[in-house]
Amino acid sequence: MKKIRTRFAPSPTGYLHVGSLRTALYCYLFAKHNEGDFVLRIEDTDRARYVEGSIENLVKILDFMGLEYNEGVSADNDGKIVQKGNFGPYMQSERLEIYKKYVDELIENGFAYYCFCSKGRLDEMRKNQQLQKQAPMYDGKCQNLSKEEIQKLLDKKTPYVVRLKVPKEGFVEFKDLVYGKIRIENKTIDDQVIMKSDGFPTYHLANVVDDHLMEISHVIRGEEWLPSTPKHILLYKAFGWEAPEFAHLPLLLNSDKSKLSKRQGDVAVEDFLKLGYLPEALLNFVLLLGWNPKTEEEIFSLDEMIKRFDLSGVNKAGSIFNTEKLDWINGMYIRKMDLDELTKLCVPFLIEAKLIEQIDEKYKIKNSGEIIDFEYIKKVIALERERMKKISEIGESVKFIFSDELDYEKELLIWKKMTVEDVKNNLQLVFEELKNLDENNFQSDKLLEILNNLVEKNELKRGEVFWPLRVALTGLKGSPGPFEIAEVLGKAKVLKRIEFAIEKL
Ligand code: GLU
Repeated sequence: MKKIRTRFAPSPTGYLHVGSLRTALYCYLFAKHNEGDFVLRIEDTDRARYVEGSIENLVKILDFMGLEYNEGVSADNDGKIVQKGNFGPYMQSERLEIYKKYVDELIENGFAYYCFCSKGRLDEMRKNQQLQKQAPMYDGKCQNLSKEEIQKLLDKKTPYVVRLKVPKEGFVEFKDLVYGKIRIENKTIDDQVIMKSDGFPTYHLANVVDDHLMEISHVIRGEEWLPSTPKHILLYKAFGWEAPEFAHLPLLLNSDKSKLSKRQGDVAVEDFLKLGYLPEALLNFVLLLGWNPKTEEEIFSLDEMIKRFDLSGVNKAGSIFNTEKLDWINGMYIRKMDLDELTKLCVPFLIEAKLIEQIDEKYKIKNSGEIIDFEYIKKVIALERERMKKISEIGESVKFIFSDELDYEKELLIWKKMTVEDVKNNLQLVFEELKNLDENNFQSDKLLEILNNLVEKNELKRGEVFWPLRVALTGLKGSPGPFEIAEVLGKAKVLKRIEFAIEKL
């Protein structure tokens, strides 16, 4: 059987769209599942869209996401772009000679022709077609030029493009592995440009030549390329090559079903990483944007994905990009993560939020000047871990731990229909109880036991004690439980915060 080879073929236009990350992931999974090769090819023939540094950025992100490829463009240890593999170069701008050779071959065999039409003529033609409500199409004028006429125009250095000669009869038919059988009448296909006047190939030509020469067995790409595929099939036919298999992936949509685009918010993988989404979570999320495991499962490690992925699980319908789901998946990964690792990821966000500052191996709480160590920060993170959705939120959610004075409305201290007096009394009771407690007994389970006894002894309801205490310690409507927080804060701060609350009332 033919070796399975897939390729991810991005254009270096500045950032990696999440949709492209999904394409890369599916290409990777399909190759790995079938013990095949996954190739990274850079499609940089559109010089106008090229953005400096974007190839480096792309390679770095794929690496960070853990999508390893066997072949193509990559970076060495110093971040310098290199290429590896037997089918190179893998950068289309370095393959111009190759494309030229194949274009000449098509002209020679009568499958393509020079077109010298000026922009003025083409614009005019298009305008007329629009007026007559016809689809814009080249009218084939230059197909009729004689050999001598062509030579004359070439000698005069008249600018030209090369167009594919699309048969006017018949149809193109192919089976897409996701969308099924597709049949297009040839007469609806334009004599597309395959080589531009600057000598660069168009996407269509370069893509077909490279997929053939690089022995790609499966072309997996976004649905937006589906309309181009008949043109590609015609090119394969003209060259006398066997076309690869095609699998197009459904569009990514906003919740209002419009196409997901940069204008509406974050779509770049870089943005999601900056917001503190974990690479594994992001991969897991994009996996489910268009692929159905046919079970209720939602969390998949990369190894699990490789084992399970198949193209028959890819949906045809567009997939809604649901950020809440992404948050949920990210939360699942955060909870599974090693606490040390998680804390390391959180520290820069705490520094950025100006809560702490690094001093050699230790940290200083900005507000109080107190010196803390990594172990302490770990305890703080452990507090929030259950509720965390993304790492970038950590500063906001643990601000109360590092603050010297909390800022909240005193009404927040009141639980249900309690009177201010009762709240004050209860906080006073807690204060007295904790005041005599040894610092070493300031552990959440111990505190729970002690305060449970206090509730019982005074015939109170738990909420009447625990709610005011929790608010006194955090100043927040929602937070982790009061005992865990009290343990992290330590005796002195707990007493100080209770006192502060009593004074407020
Ligand atoms: N260079 C195209 C892109 O940027 C690749 C399309 C394809 O995979 O054929 O998406």
